[in-house]
Amino acid sequence: MSKEAGKDKKPQGGPPSNVVELPKRCPAEGCGKKPVRSAFCSEHFEWFKAGLINRQGQRPKDFDKKYQAWSQKRKVA
Ligand SMILES: [Zn+2]
Repeated sequence: MSKEAGKDKKPQGGPPSNVVELPKRCPAEGCGKKPVRSAFCSEHFEWFKAGLINRQGQRPKDFDKKYQAWSQKRKVA
């Protein structure tokens, strides 16, 4: 038998009131998922880190190019 780490997630417990205000949804265009990190969902946080979107979730003019380069890199890794 193996130990299951963190198998029960408690549904209770709302967000603490003294936390920094974050948007309720990921700001990336057409997303709207729950933010996980820095106001972005996990996927778009990666985008943000890679410079594919800015803090407001807006795409740069050369988004397609950047996105392609980024997804290529990801495949290799
Ligand atoms: Zn998102």
